[in-house]
Amino acid sequence: MHNMKDRIGLSLGRSVVPSPGRWEGRRIRGQRVGPAERRGDGLDTTGRIIDVHTHFIPPEFLNAADHPAWGAAVEKRDDGDRWVVHDEGFAYPLDEGFLGGQAKLDDMDARGIDFSIMSLAPTLFYYWIDTAEGVAFARMANDSLAQTVASSGGRLVGTASLPMQDPQAAAEEYRRCIQELGFVGAHVGTTIEGEYVDRDRYLPLWEAVDDLGAPVILHPYYIGPKVGYEDYYLTNIFVNPLDTALAAGRLIFSGLFDRLENLKFVLVHAGGFLPYQIGRFDHGWRVRQESRISLGRPPSEYLDRFYFDTITHHDLALKWLIDLVGSQRVVLGTDLPFDMADPDPVGRLDRVADSNETRRLVGGSTASELFNLKEAATSGRTR
Ligand SMILES: [Zn+2]
Repeated sequence: MHNMKDRIGLSLGRSVVPSPGRWEGRRIRGQRVGPAERRGDGLDTTGRIIDVHTHFIPPEFLNAADHPAWGAAVEKRDDGDRWVVHDEGFAYPLDEGFLGGQAKLDDMDARGIDFSIMSLAPTLFYYWIDTAEGVAFARMANDSLAQTVASSGGRLVGTASLPMQDPQAAAEEYRRCIQELGFVGAHVGTTIEGEYVDRDRYLPLWEAVDDLGAPVILHPYYIGPKVGYEDYYLTNIFVNPLDTALAAGRLIFSGLFDRLENLKFVLVHAGGFLPYQIGRFDHGWRVRQESRISLGRPPSEYLDRFYFDTITHHDLALKWLIDLVGSQRVVLGTDLPFDMADPDPVGRLDRVADSNETRRLVGGSTASELFNLKEAATSGRTR
């Protein structure tokens, strides 16, 4: 394996073997749960292509205009396409694939994707509305996604959307989704209406994640303009990767990973700017006392608490990411059906992978272990 230790002398320090915890209860501290212990008689996802990053919009949202608290509407435009329009300004085509169903499965077939982990469109995080409304929306969206998953013939699984306005309620919804709906992880904003996720108030959720072990996909979001970045679609193409790097960096520097050893995150858009700047993080930690307040080891030693999707839009960038963090830390993603998606992630992986092993790991094997998909597939068939 090529990793940063080989390349630039920084130490990654710890094992990079995926080691997801058990979903059903608190794991024993310090005990890594190996794949053999968890492997049931579920579907064999080895060698299959798994998309860990694709988005869902509940069919219930088609009636958004009937719900004033949601601040959005689905409009039919002159060309016949439906668009989601948020009161704050952001608008995008409502591709049929957002709704799950046959359109999603057909699209996966066309792109060579066997299995998808669906997460709510981040435009529907609704952290910005009244707490009770936010709790109700998350619950509705999760129940709707569970129905879509149940009718997918075993090709879709879901992650939980959480009402982060109320971290305790978010923790409860996370537990409900993992333990009752059979979801395989959670989907959380990189900030919560401008507040950073390393703040103590979010600890109830991170403790629940540490307990159950199902990972969190961190995803940037916006529904209106971001001050100073309105031009050139910089809100998305620049601020999204910036937000991801900032959130991951703050989680590292806060020392949270030393307190919660089972906490794992997937960083979308290939980790934003984080991988490229990790050497700078380490240098700052060495020369500046402020960076060491909560962290006893260099930031790069915590890279193995993160997984990175493949959405680089650039073959060399993906190749370099795999070299940096290891093929065991990169998982295929698309961001479909948004227009910023990678339309041919399998083709890119085929061009970039330098071995069958890399293709197998990045294409789906690591995701299968990380999200415990064999057990999810089994429980899905018995429900
Ligand atoms: Zn996305």
